[in-house]
Amino acid sequence: MADETGAGGETPFWRAKSLEEMNPAEWESLCDGCGRCCLVKLQDEDSDAIAYTDIGCQLLDEFGCRCRDYPNRQAQVPDCVRLTPEAVRSLGWLPPSCGYRLVAEGRDLYWWHPLVSGDPDSVHAAGVSVRGRVGALEDEVPLEDYLDHMVRWPLRLPRGALRKSAAVGSGAVASKGTRR
Ligand code: SF4
Ligand code: SF4
Repeated sequence: MADETGAGGETPFWRAKSLEEMNPAEWESLCDGCGRCCLVKLQDEDSDAIAYTDIGCQLLDEFGCRCRDYPNRQAQVPDCVRLTPEAVRSLGWLPPSCGYRLVAEGRDLYWWHPLVSGDPDSVHAAGVSVRGRVGALEDEVPLEDYLDHMVRWPLRLPRGALRKSAAVGSGAVASKGTRR
């Protein structure tokens, strides 16, 4: 978890501001780059329950875990959900590790969030991102096979994510969702 204050003694913006008060740069930096929300989700027609799959959006970079055309994402993928403060508070499927969800719930960011670690790779080193866990991309799987790709891990926090590893701690480690 982050220290109570930043290096200069000031409270970090994600603890000092509400989601509505953040400027565009602060808002974007709250995304840890995990890519979890860019996995395809299935909704039960009767119960409305949401289930994740390990199928990545067609624009998801499976290794980098980022959108390959973020500025134009909604033109290319119309069902890519644009996150807003209101959406963050109402979407039940945002992963428990998501920086937006954590701040909306009044919680701090974990040690592996790049804003805390200062290292964009820490989200991968902690096993939080989708790197190595994407089973396929949308255009590689027929719709009738989507059920075979249902997974639960995107809605769980990896055990290793809760404790800071020595390697990362020493600085040695080098929608579908929103994001959608
Ligand atoms: S789940 Fe949250 S933190 Fe992860 S990529 Fe999506 S918006 Fe960013
Ligand atoms: S879900 Fe949206 S942000 Fe994620 S890869 Fe697809 S288009 Fe990009």
